[in-house]
Amino acid sequence: MNFVAEALGLSRQTAEKLEEGSILRKAFVRDSFFPDLVDAYRLDKKFGKFEEGTFIAKLKDRTFVARGFPKIRRTLLLDPTLKKHFGNRRIVLEEKMNGYNVRIVKMGENIYAITRGGLLCPYTTEKARKMISTDFFEDFPEYMLCCEAVGIASPYVVFDYGVEFDFFLFDIRNAKTNEALSVKDKVEIAESYSIKTARILLETNADNVDLILKTVQELEAERREGVVIKDVEMKIEPLKYTTSYINCSDLRYAFRYFAEYGRDFMLSRIIREAFQSYEIKETQKDFEKRCLRLGKAILEPLVESIKDVKSGKDVVEKSKIFFYDGRVAELFKRHLKMQGINAKLTYLYKKDGKIYYELQRVMRSTTDKISRILEGGYWQ
Ligand code: ATP
Ligand code: MG
Repeated sequence: MNFVAEALGLSRQTAEKLEEGSILRKAFVRDSFFPDLVDAYRLDKKFGKFEEGTFIAKLKDRTFVARGFPKIRRTLLLDPTLKKHFGNRRIVLEEKMNGYNVRIVKMGENIYAITRGGLLCPYTTEKARKMISTDFFEDFPEYMLCCEAVGIASPYVVFDYGVEFDFFLFDIRNAKTNEALSVKDKVEIAESYSIKTARILLETNADNVDLILKTVQELEAERREGVVIKDVEMKIEPLKYTTSYINCSDLRYAFRYFAEYGRDFMLSRIIREAFQSYEIKETQKDFEKRCLRLGKAILEPLVESIKDVKSGKDVVEKSKIFFYDGRVAELFKRHLKMQGINAKLTYLYKKDGKIYYELQRVMRSTTDKISRILEGGYWQ
């Protein structure tokens, strides 16, 4: 593990703290699918200036660091927060896509995909190698492509954008320093290497709240997640703001599996609805619609879970994913196991050069809790 301290430029004393704090975790399952790696770790917590999810690898001839993607703070109000945060700077509203965060990098001869926590994901790496050309990395070897991996064939976040699986670039960052290129540079580079990007919906200043609200409302109508608001120069940290549609859709998910999800997750989404309702000064009729939407988002999935258990089924989450190579599917199973994720991967069929599998996760806590209550048990 000595290479970690060296790669991060830590003094010996600081390096010892890192080892004591059990902050370093294994970042990958060793396999010939990852031929350029001798060893790799990730930071499980923030450590000094290094973000949670920072990835540190030993390659054959050097070390490699990909800094963790920085947390994006959320605003519950557009006014006055945007003005307070961005002042008079030019800002863009980028679509916030609902998938999972991936940093795509090149190490040695190959492309690799690192997920939020700093894990090298076989599923995502296989897709990145097919869909992202190495041209960008020939010219920008120090940089990483920060993308949202979206689609219905997703092992982590399933959301329908009319694609099976795809990457949408939102930031280009120096892998070692985490410095982001300006929005303009990012867009130009993405275009010249044919990399798809998250949509830029508006460029404006923070004063223009009416126009910003209108843009969010259009996203609401399209049933999209929301926006990330960025300083065009990328010198000030971005903020995020989400639609009522996604707040309710998150609640549906969280209440269906209520015992696996934290109460903070639920509470924060309900509070977002309140601030939004207040800020947009909605009519009584729209307010009542919101109340109904919110109530349904909580109760419908709960009742569905109860009925599942009553009829003898486990409460499960299912998705259909695909691999180009069966060996990567096997590796992905080991990858889930390493993280202690209790999931089953079942072969379905082959089509168009892809091998489809069902990924099923039994929500044990929710299933057991409901089952005990149905048998006459108490809540606590
Ligand atoms: P956080 O990432 O802020 O720690 P979180 O894990 O709950 O919180 P989200 O609430 O989804 O994540 O918000 C941040 C994430 O949004 C980013 O990590 C990134 O994966 C995703 N994202 C989607 N679209 C964009 C975009 N256009 N710009 C920046 N991030 C985006
Ligand atoms: Mg997200």
